[in-house]
Amino acid sequence: MIKEWVNKMTSGYDLSSNPFLYRRLSMTVALLSITLFAFVVFSVINFKAGKYLLVSLDICVIALALFSLHLLLIKKKIELASIVATIFLLVFLLAFSFINKNNGFGLVWTLCYPLFVVPILGTKNGLRMIGLFYLMLIPMAYNGIGIWDYGNWDNTSFLRFVLASFTIVFIAYFFESTTVKAYNTIMKIRDKEKVYLKELENLSITDQLTGLHNRRYFDEHFALEQMKVARYGNSLCLMMIDVDHFKSVNDQFGHQVGDTVLREFAKLLKNRMRGSDILARWGGEEFIVLLPATKLEDCEIIAEDIRRAVEIYSFSQVGKLTTSIGLSVVCAGDSNQRKAIQNADSALYQAKEAGRNRVQRL
Ligand code: GH3
Ligand code: MG
Ligand code: MG
Repeated sequence: MIKEWVNKMTSGYDLSSNPFLYRRLSMTVALLSITLFAFVVFSVINFKAGKYLLVSLDICVIALALFSLHLLLIKKKIELASIVATIFLLVFLLAFSFINKNNGFGLVWTLCYPLFVVPILGTKNGLRMIGLFYLMLIPMAYNGIGIWDYGNWDNTSFLRFVLASFTIVFIAYFFESTTVKAYNTIMKIRDKEKVYLKELENLSITDQLTGLHNRRYFDEHFALEQMKVARYGNSLCLMMIDVDHFKSVNDQFGHQVGDTVLREFAKLLKNRMRGSDILARWGGEEFIVLLPATKLEDCEIIAEDIRRAVEIYSFSQVGKLTTSIGLSVVCAGDSNQRKAIQNADSALYQAKEAGRNRVQRL
């Protein structure tokens, strides 16, 4: 039953948007419910005592409390309802102190005010409301010196009360502001973690030398594209690109220059790819491209374009280089993924055998 009530109370509020919303909501509901209950009791007592003016006042408060609960639970207007609820408590505690005159140390109840108001209204508006409360209560208590509590309410009692009140205000403020700060810090840490996670994710799918995607990324996307082939019957092509005689580049100019060549080569490839093509470094000086929704004939044209672009490009420090490209078509079915790569590899081998600097389809 409690769970149902809580669900009803919170429905329509996005609790995940603010971690303090649930506390604010439940405290406001509690305050309004207590007010409602207390004033129903008062109205019955006053009615029995024949104090009809007070009964009509009680009924006004009951109506206002009901209206606030309506605002809170049906109209979902927590701002207004929480202000009304804290004003209720303010009026109630001031009236109680005025009537009770600290008999039986009843003034102690006023210490609850900051503890309720700060979590409901927050530090800024809470302090404003508390300021208003003490602006009325403290002069009242000061005027009661020598009168309240059958004359026992003296200067020392008054000062002690003021000191205790301010201590409670400080504690309420301190707890609230540090809790909010702690929450904000946690959120900042989470945001940083998200950024790190994204960086890590990027690192795990990126080839560090060329900045192209790596084999891991390629494998994942290959599986996805192959599923599309099975589902929609699209044509999917594969391209295996290898730099000719790259070993001699390393041997002649050193590994560092070889690395630079690989970076330039990768850039050249990237610039000739379409948005939907998936290009990755397969390993060493070999690159692989997946061309979705592409027929083998069109793939051949693109490969020829790449071959020509490499042929006419002049690599820094190294000069002219050539490339050989093997092509294959990917068919639906899991085993064909490996088969398609093997076919592209075989085609590449044939291109090498046939004298390099050429495109070969299988
Ligand atoms: P082919 O025309 O038959 O492809 O001859 P190739 O020399 O290009 O092929 P081979 O497989 O004999 O040599 C590839 C070379 O690529 C050998 C290896 O040292 C070099 N290599 C592989 N990865 C890297 C790298 O990350 N950086 C550099 N600089 N060289 C690399
Ligand atoms: Mg090579
Ligand atoms: Mg090779």
